[in-house]
Amino acid sequence: MNEKTDIKSLNRTELEELLTEMGEKSFRARQIYEWLHVKQVNSFEEMSNLSKALREKLEHSCRITALKKEQVQVSRLDGTRKYLFALGDGNLIESVLMRYKHGNSVCISSQVGCRMGCKFCASTLDGLVRGLTPSEMLDQIYAIGKDIGERISNVVVMGTGEPMDNFDNLLKFIEILTDENGLNISQRNVTVSTCGIVPKIRELADKKLSITLALSLHASNQKKRLELMPVANKYDIHEVIDACKYYFAQTGRRVTFEYSLVGNVNDTDEDARELAALIAGMNCHVNLIPVNPIKERDYVQSNRDAILAFQHKLEHSGINVTIRREMGRDIDGACGQLRRKYAVTHREL
Ligand code: SAH
Repeated sequence: MNEKTDIKSLNRTELEELLTEMGEKSFRARQIYEWLHVKQVNSFEEMSNLSKALREKLEHSCRITALKKEQVQVSRLDGTRKYLFALGDGNLIESVLMRYKHGNSVCISSQVGCRMGCKFCASTLDGLVRGLTPSEMLDQIYAIGKDIGERISNVVVMGTGEPMDNFDNLLKFIEILTDENGLNISQRNVTVSTCGIVPKIRELADKKLSITLALSLHASNQKKRLELMPVANKYDIHEVIDACKYYFAQTGRRVTFEYSLVGNVNDTDEDARELAALIAGMNCHVNLIPVNPIKERDYVQSNRDAILAFQHKLEHSGINVTIRREMGRDIDGACGQLRRKYAVTHREL
C-alpha cells in the first residue's frame, strides 16, 4: 500500500500538481492551502468549501500532520513557554515561545535528536532519530500560535537538531512559512542556526534568501573549537568563516556568531582577542550565550565579570555584541533538556 501524502509539506506548486492529477481545478489548491496554512485545520472534514467527494478523495490519499501537546512549562519570570510535543509517530520534540516587546518569537526543533555531538549540548546525547518534515516544523509554530491566540512574528531554527543536516526539508519549510499565501512571516524575521556545515551554508547563500544565518562558533581557534564541536573535524574554522563571508556577499545579510561562554574554557581575554582578530572587518554580530550547564557534562558558566569583560574586549575592537538574555531560567532552559528529562522519567530512553 502506498503511504499517504503529507499534504502540509507540499508547496503551492506541488499542491496544484496533486489536485490536477486528481482531475480537479487548480483553484482548489489555493483553497486547501489556505485551510492548511492560514486557518490551520487538522482535518479534511473542516474544509467546508470543498465538495464531500473531494474531501473523501483527499482523506483517502493524504494525511494532515498534527502535534500532541504533552507538556507546557511557563516561566514566571518572563512568560517564556516551553512546549513538549509528540509527533505522529510518538517521538518527542521541544519548542519554545519567547515574548519580546517587538513580538512573539518561536524557537523550533528541526530534528528528533542530533548527530553533531557538541559537547555542551543536551540534544545530541542520544544521537539522531530522524529529521522533521516541513509540516512538522510548521506544526510547532501553528500549534503555539493557536495555544496563545496571538500572531507569531519571528521564527528561529535553534532548537534540537542541525537544520543543515535536514536541508531539503528546511528549505521547503522556509518557503511555506514565508509564503504570502500562508502564515506570511517575513524572511527577515527567520533565523537559521548551524554548527557550521560549510557546503550547505554556501548552498543556502546561493538561494539568496533574506533570512539570517546564525553560526555557532563557540571558540576563537581551530584547536579549541575541536574540543567542543566534533563537526570541526570536518570543516576547519577558517573554512567556516569564509562560508559566512560568502553568505554575506550573496545575501547582504549580516551574520550572527553565537558564542557560548564556558567558564575557563573559552572565556579568557586571550580568547576575546583572538575572536576579534578572526572576524575582524566582517559585517557581523556576536551573541554571547552564558553556557547552560547540563548535568551529563561538567562545564560551568563563566562568571558575570568574565562575561562582561569578554563583551567589552570585543566592543573595543569595534565588534557589535549582545549578551543573550537568559529567558525561562526557571524552566528547563537548555536545548533538549525538557525532552530528555521527560523521556528519562517515562523510561523511553
Ligand atoms: N544545531 C544548530 C542549532 C541548534 S543549537 C547549531 O548548532 O547552531 C542552538 C544554539 O544553542 C547553538 O549555538 C548551540 O551551540 C547552543 N547551545 C546548545 N546547548 C547549549 C547549552 N547547554 N548552553 C548554551 N548554548 C547551547
